[in-house]
Amino acid sequence: MTVPRAIELEVARRAEQRCEYCRMHQALHGATFHVEHIIPRSRNGSTQLDNLFGLFPPEQLTG
Ligand SMILES: [Zn+2]
Repeated sequence: MTVPRAIELEVARRAEQRCEYCRMHQALHGATFHVEHIIPRSRNGSTQLDNLFGLFPPEQLTG
């Protein structure tokens, strides 16, 4: 699932460099910020900020 780099940066800025999953700062996470679709592209989810969520692998969205 690829998200354009520019959009990834927008999500990171919205999140204020924190994980949107557990709210921990990325400096403490020790992983690379990763952007996931909330509604997958395969289910017609958009690549817009309101359908994107920033977290750090191996965290992942469930459901
Ligand atoms: Zn996290």
